[in-house]
Amino acid sequence: MSTRIPRVVDLTRTLTPGFPTAIADVPPVRRWQATTYESHGFSANGWSLVEHIGTHVDAPVHFVPGGRDVDAIPADELVLPARVVHLPSAQLVTVADLLVEERRRGPIPARSAVLLCCGWGTREPDDRSYLGWDGTAYRAPGWSAEAVEWLVENRAIVALGTDTSSIDAGDASAAHLALLGAGRYAIEGLVNLEQLVECSSFTLVVGVIPWESGTGGPCRALALVAPAEESP
Ligand SMILES: [Zn+2]
Repeated sequence: MSTRIPRVVDLTRTLTPGFPTAIADVPPVRRWQATTYESHGFSANGWSLVEHIGTHVDAPVHFVPGGRDVDAIPADELVLPARVVHLPSAQLVTVADLLVEERRRGPIPARSAVLLCCGWGTREPDDRSYLGWDGTAYRAPGWSAEAVEWLVENRAIVALGTDTSSIDAGDASAAHLALLGAGRYAIEGLVNLEQLVECSSFTLVVGVIPWESGTGGPCRALALVAPAEESP
């Protein structure tokens, strides 16, 4: 085993009480002081939040009745070879985009995670720019159902990600249904994917808590880039 230490890129947003969600009618994230140094001798916060907030995982059951809960995703599906697809001007990622990507940097690794970099990771997490709300509709870019189906059937992907707040474009749900319906999971709200666009493959670690019966949940997503995989 190589003793050379990989570079670690943190792909995770800081979760704040003000973090926005496009899910209508859910209470905002709340944080309160559960104990203080004065009251208990130590400090601890309490939190209440919807599972789909910040950088987070969507488990299959999020859209598919009877699908896997987040606590049923095994650890070996949370450490994956991964590839970033960099499409800053696409609205809907197509199969043709994936074929261009493969011609440029080789086949997408089997049983991997494929992460869409739209350049949204640098946006402030406010309702308007992060969620793609333009005052009348959500217009964030995302994956087409056809591209998701192609990756599932031809590359046997385990997970799909994005630096927007949803793998779907706008308020569509076709990509969610295609991915989660195939038993795979999503990672949404990633950051720093720009740092990985030239890596042909790196290791993605998705540190999501196995919430009992959870439909997903906030995660710490990390990229481990081996020295040999760095661009020259
Ligand atoms: Zn989702």
